[in-house]
Amino acid sequence: MKAIIIEDERDLAELLAFNLEKEGWQTVIALDGRSGLEKVTSELPDLVILDLMLPEMGGIEVCRLLRRQEKTAAIPIIMVTAKGEEIDRVVGFEMGADDYLVKPFSTRELLLRIKAILRRSSAPPQQEKILVRGVLAIDPDRHRVTVRGEEVTLTSTEFKLLQTLAERTGRMQGRELLLRDVWGYNSSADTRTVDTHITRLRGKLGEAGEMIRTVRGFGYKMEIE
Ligand code: CA
Repeated sequence: MKAIIIEDERDLAELLAFNLEKEGWQTVIALDGRSGLEKVTSELPDLVILDLMLPEMGGIEVCRLLRRQEKTAAIPIIMVTAKGEEIDRVVGFEMGADDYLVKPFSTRELLLRIKAILRRSSAPPQQEKILVRGVLAIDPDRHRVTVRGEEVTLTSTEFKLLQTLAERTGRMQGRELLLRDVWGYNSSADTRTVDTHITRLRGKLGEAGEMIRTVRGFGYKMEIE
């Protein structure tokens, strides 16, 4: 498993690399956004740890470009932000980060988040059959989603979220329940995480996104007309 760490604070980058290597990871460090983007594109790692404030090209731009390229679109990204960059954090989610951590964070916290993300991207499919919901078809086995036969590229988190809602069609799903079942978090996590991912998912699904209904003050459900 390979991780690329895009972080301009060399000490922090090396500390992250050291801790990941102890867990059996191969690591590559990039000290600015532009070289980070190039390394991810050429080496196609299993994980990207991406600082928000970077020289050459900011983390949000790197994230946006990685999501736009087909071969890097599904690589899990953990965004790292300094305190006080809250607004940018929300933007980060909208641009496609799978998770975020606020500095300073513990190694333990980072490793837990990584485990949760990898569980989401490598979880064995729950069932073999293709789920068809209106114009939407979800193939859990091949991690493939189509709307009217057109393939839609989703991140592993978006896929799991969509699959979970589809498997529970017609049933309301609270934000905390989704955090637990999709993200593997306990209730301490920020429920806005769910909202930003739903927004992005709806955007990607186009007309099929309308099947994901907001249940005010509660959460979401999938409903077929
Ligand atoms: Ca920085």
